[in-house]
Amino acid sequence: MNVRDSEATEATLKAAGHTLAANENEADLIIVNSCSVRGKAEDKAIGKLGLLCATKRDRPNRIIGLMGCMAQRLGSDIFKKIPRLDFSVGTRRCGAIPFMVARVMAGETNITEISSPDEIPDVPDAHSEHGFSAFVTILLGCNRRCAYCIVPDVRGPEFSRPAREVLAEVTALAHQGVKEVTLLGQSVMNYGLMQQVWTPNDPQSPHGFKEPFSRLLEAVSSIPGILRVRFTSGHPSGCTDELVKAVSLLPNVCHHLHLPVQSGSDAILSAMRRGYTRAAYLDAIRRLRAVMPDFALTTDVIVGFPGETVQDFEETRSLMNAADFDNAFIFKYSPRPGTPAAAMKDDVPETEKMRRNQLLLADQDTRGEAANQRLMGSVQEVLVEGASLRNAARWSGRSPGNKIVVFDPVPDLTPGTLAKIRINRVAPQTLYGEVVQTNG
Ligand code: SF4
Repeated sequence: MNVRDSEATEATLKAAGHTLAANENEADLIIVNSCSVRGKAEDKAIGKLGLLCATKRDRPNRIIGLMGCMAQRLGSDIFKKIPRLDFSVGTRRCGAIPFMVARVMAGETNITEISSPDEIPDVPDAHSEHGFSAFVTILLGCNRRCAYCIVPDVRGPEFSRPAREVLAEVTALAHQGVKEVTLLGQSVMNYGLMQQVWTPNDPQSPHGFKEPFSRLLEAVSSIPGILRVRFTSGHPSGCTDELVKAVSLLPNVCHHLHLPVQSGSDAILSAMRRGYTRAAYLDAIRRLRAVMPDFALTTDVIVGFPGETVQDFEETRSLMNAADFDNAFIFKYSPRPGTPAAAMKDDVPETEKMRRNQLLLADQDTRGEAANQRLMGSVQEVLVEGASLRNAARWSGRSPGNKIVVFDPVPDLTPGTLAKIRINRVAPQTLYGEVVQTNG
């Protein structure tokens, strides 16, 4: 979400006449986009802002701004921590940034724009220059109240953009050469549950889908030029029968979902207020894989949540094995002020959190490698991105399961097309192969 907000901000600033600096040293305007999910992320942003503002001693006209969740959370208190900061913009006001920069250029400083939770967010649809993939925000905020999470406070309640607006944005991206879109939301399958996003005048679903998100997936996937559609992040409650049917029927919707699980213990899931049980989570993925055996799953896990016993942790390990995740992002719990979990006793010692973290990482390495081994000899459809970052003589792209695939280019292959690649070598994070068919 922050990557998308940064990109939109870049585009709106360019539209206002600014140009992108080659690097941080050359920049006359620097905006730090902050994350509040963990304390460490905020500490890093504060440290960076302190360093940047110190450069104003030699460059008094340099403008330093802050955007994102920390800006929203702290409001004007940020100026007590960073007095030389010029402006700070909350999560639902990204579109105001060019005006704030203009105000600072006119002599103001320490200005802030914070949204109230009930206001209609300002969702910029501008995109800066990009490759073949683009993020498209379809839903902002979150109505869940997971006990450890600050997001509902800083990103506000759920707001779904009208379907027409989303479809216009994707159509414009397709005209600019984008081939793959990723639809973004905190609980993306909740799209359209709180607002009316489809109007009676909108075309009916050719497959007869009734749920707003399935209808959107179908409509986005039928836009000419869009070769691939992804969506993130998921919640098990969104894995309805209709959603499973939509993903399996629509040929260019990728068989991949980031579905945060956080814990495999019912006691901890309940304390976290995640809104599902271990059995419900496993049932959601069983239904996805029953019709799409190649379905790739990635997840987030928190270890050391208050009250997590060794037995609870072992249940997380066993769930991760049962779910056979392709990749997992594992975090040690740290309390966020203002959340219900912050009032709970943070009773798992740091060394034990570290031990659990390391165990899950080691398990995941083994599992991820085994998952890649199973792809040996398979033919993967890859969206070709061009020269590989590590070795420009080779090219790379991504499989439908979002794995990086590296291969030697062939003469009629062009970036931005789909190619069939036979996998002949695997590493823990990468697949290697040879082109067997191009569509270019
Ligand atoms: S679903 Fe839970 S963890 Fe995710 S953003 Fe919402 S409150 Fe936070």
